[in-house]
Amino acid sequence: MDTRVRGVLIFECNYCKTFFSMVMVQGQKNVYCPGCSQIVKNSIGDGVTTYNIQKTPEPIVISNQDKLYLNATDIHKLLGISKSTAYELLRQKDCPTLNVGGEKGGRKLVKKDEFLIWLETKKHG
Ligand SMILES: [Zn+2]
Repeated sequence: MDTRVRGVLIFECNYCKTFFSMVMVQGQKNVYCPGCSQIVKNSIGDGVTTYNIQKTPEPIVISNQDKLYLNATDIHKLLGISKSTAYELLRQKDCPTLNVGGEKGGRKLVKKDEFLIWLETKKHG
């Protein structure tokens, strides 16, 4: 069963630029990059993600070379639209975005498959 969990931390690996989220377990010291297994020291913000709470927490890759989640730049490249149009799409209220980074001027990401489905509904509506 998947459950929405708050208070996960978002990390970006300095080595391979994998972007991932992790539920921190009490007493846990090191976070290992799921992409290259290097220790990632500093989180870049808080986020909300879906975890299977039956299992031991493990990192969830948010983005790497084959991206699961897209930011405005990715959408700009993927759809061949301007960056400002991509930002406008992400700002739409019904767009299924994930906010990470919170108050420090966080970023908006959207899950690729959910975004494409959402975009289809825009076209027809
Ligand atoms: Zn890495």
